[in-house]
Parts: sequence; structure tokens; C-alpha cells
Amino acid sequence: MRWQGEIDHALLRRQQLDQWRDGQVPRKALCDADARLVAAAKFHGRKAQVRCPVCRKDNLRLVFWVFGENLGRRSGTACGEIELSAIVDDYGSCTVKEVEVCPDCRWSFLVRTLQAVREESES
Ligand SMILES: [Zn+2]
Repeated sequence: MRWQGEIDHALLRRQQLDQWRDGQVPRKALCDADARLVAAAKFHGRKAQVRCPVCRKDNLRLVFWVFGENLGRRSGTACGEIELSAIVDDYGSCTVKEVEVCPDCRWSFLVRTLQAVREESES
């Protein structure tokens, strides 16, 4: 599996956080991760290298969500890194959205959108 076509949403992330710090956006508008998203992040997610930008706690997690017609019922579900490469092996290439989630304050943000591409095995 290899990555392709990464779209980084860091600029939008910074804008949202700036608006919150300036008082233009209430914290609850940013920290609205639902129970399913928090559970998925805890179960499938890996620890982020940075602290939560809102509450500064050290529990921020990154989780993948996979999308694609070829995935059938797996489309729109969460997974971890190892599971993702198994999905790509089984179903083929798909769209991946990487979301950061803080289980403490429920901040969540779509960090990156990218394609996970199946590499054809050499024969
Ligand atoms: Zn937080």
C-alpha cells in the first residue's frame, strides 16, 4: 500500500482555532465529537505527536476513516494503520480521511484526506 494525493487541511485547522481563540467561535462548536467518533478514536486510533490544541491534554488521537464504493459495508468505518493495509489488500484502493480526536474535550478535526493505493504485487 502506498499513499497518494494527500490534501492537508492544516490551514483550515489553524483558522478554526484562531477564531476560537479570538472568541468568534464557541468552544462547543469545535468540540462536538460524538460518542461513536470518540470510541473509534480510542479503539482504532494511534497517539498523535502533538497535544490537543484546545484543552492541551496529551490524549489526542489520530484515526482513519475509509471510504469507497469498492469497500461495500466497510465504507465509512474507522480503522487503524494495520487494519487499513489489510483493507486495501482485500478491497483495493480507497479514500482515507485522517481525523484527530481528543477524548477529553471532544475536539475533532479532519487533518488529511488522501488515497490509499494498492500496489500490484510483482510477479
Ligand atoms: Zn482536548
